[in-house]
Amino acid sequence: MSVSTIPLSSSVDVHVIPILSDNFSYLIHDKDTSTAALVDPAEPQKLLDVATKLQANVTTSLTTHHHWDHAGGNIQLAKLVPQIEIIGSAYESADGVTTRLESGVSHQIKGSSLVVSTLRTPCHTMGHLCFVTDTTRKAVFTGDTLFVAGCGKFFEGAASDMQQSLNSTLASLEDDTFVFCGHEYTVTNLLFAASVEPNNQFVQEKLKWAKKQVSNGVPTVPSTIGDEKQFNPFMRTAVRELGEEVGVSDDNPVEVMKALRERKNAFRP
Ligand SMILES: [Zn+2]
Ligand SMILES: [Zn+2]
Repeated sequence: MSVSTIPLSSSVDVHVIPILSDNFSYLIHDKDTSTAALVDPAEPQKLLDVATKLQANVTTSLTTHHHWDHAGGNIQLAKLVPQIEIIGSAYESADGVTTRLESGVSHQIKGSSLVVSTLRTPCHTMGHLCFVTDTTRKAVFTGDTLFVAGCGKFFEGAASDMQQSLNSTLASLEDDTFVFCGHEYTVTNLLFAASVEPNNQFVQEKLKWAKKQVSNGVPTVPSTIGDEKQFNPFMRTAVRELGEEVGVSDDNPVEVMKALRERKNAFRP
């Protein structure tokens, strides 16, 4: 799969860097100051190679949560880039983290004018953080909380936590906020979405598009918060027809979230 580049402003680009079998890591490049911040670089050398090509000085790395396929490159990264600041969650411990941030904090990337703010989105892990950029076009790095058309497994939290994380915390971001997630699961997620919302035209269109992207070796990120609200069943738990489809008759988004996750866990496309 190829590296793709998405501009967030005249000076800031996001480079999408596929790693491991289906993970996405990211390099946020501030061209004005020739600095870069990494997101979940579990194979650090691959990201440092991109930084070298861009002649960017890597000062910072952002860790969304403690799982090895996200935080597992941090120790090696610190050896390769000794002065690097490795940011992680104040609510859980992860390999190599040097700065632990709470939710709702703004943090300036060293050597850059770029600022990222944190949002705690507990459930997949209880300390999971998402990072939001302060660029002209905002971007949120969602790790394993929000995927394109899906969400992470509830390893540490309950359906009520994911309901809050997706449909209060992340849903309150502007609709045009880019979503950069932790895995390429989009086609399977949309096949599941089509199984629970067979009449949702946005699901059918996105599925057609995603299949084409994947067969061309092009990542399906970024999505946007506004688009997710149209085709991601986990961000549509208040839709009555969807609730009825998964056997929840009264308006109870938390029960819909729980039923959706159970069905998705058992889903084989
Ligand atoms: Zn994870
Ligand atoms: Zn993961």
